[in-house]
Amino acid sequence: MNQNKLVFANWKMNLNLDNATSLVRDILDRLKNINHVDVVLSPSFPYLSAVHSLISSSKISLSSQNVFWEEDGPFTGEVSSEMLRDVGCSWAMIGHSERRQHLLETNEMINKKVLTSVAKDLRVILCVGESFDQRRQEKTYESIADQLQRGLRKVDERFLKQIVIGYEPIWVIGSGKAASVDDISSVHNFIFNELKLMFPSSELLPRIVYGGSVNSSNIEDIVALENVNGVLVGNASMDCDKFCDIVMKVEDSK
Ligand code: PEP
Repeated sequence: MNQNKLVFANWKMNLNLDNATSLVRDILDRLKNINHVDVVLSPSFPYLSAVHSLISSSKISLSSQNVFWEEDGPFTGEVSSEMLRDVGCSWAMIGHSERRQHLLETNEMINKKVLTSVAKDLRVILCVGESFDQRRQEKTYESIADQLQRGLRKVDERFLKQIVIGYEPIWVIGSGKAASVDDISSVHNFIFNELKLMFPSSELLPRIVYGGSVNSSNIEDIVALENVNGVLVGNASMDCDKFCDIVMKVEDSK
């Protein structure tokens, strides 16, 4: 099993080609000596090829921020797993809360995306998380369990090594303030136990990473927690110093 921790950069709908190119060049320069962390960059669709040509001889991997479940056909605006592989992606991000909220993605759509992506040999980061209202109404665990069960429905055990669960409490994303280490710890332990219940005979379970206002000041406490196998970083991933600092602290946490 891959025991490396993961640092996954989500650039969302940000950066232009020039900004993305210089950010990638700076990151490559700073992260030459990272050996025990899997680093993944996730630019928006138009820049996937350009970023791929910059990172292709490094250990850094490329992810899309979305994928469609059909292979081809009349699905205007959508992009298939094979198309993503063609432009150098080895990962697809699925089920980010911003897509659930603004594009009305359901757990059923997300499940179809997971099933086709893993079958096409992509690694998948499946994002789950509770809203502020769900947390306030003490429905955090119920909501996470539902997203896991419906998002991973019918996933064959042999694909689990290709899957990472990204736990992102929606109410802290982009807020500048991460969830408390106690909250992160208890939800990650819950996710780990839930995955064990869902896949009782599997020796290998998906890694679980935390996302939501991770920065260079809170990363050490977060990544030291049991069942936290890395982080998903939004805002701080678009600043070379902050992002590389996070990656180096994760490397040192080993
Ligand atoms: C995200 O949206 O995936 C994310 C983690 O954002 P931020 O780090 O900015 O909270």
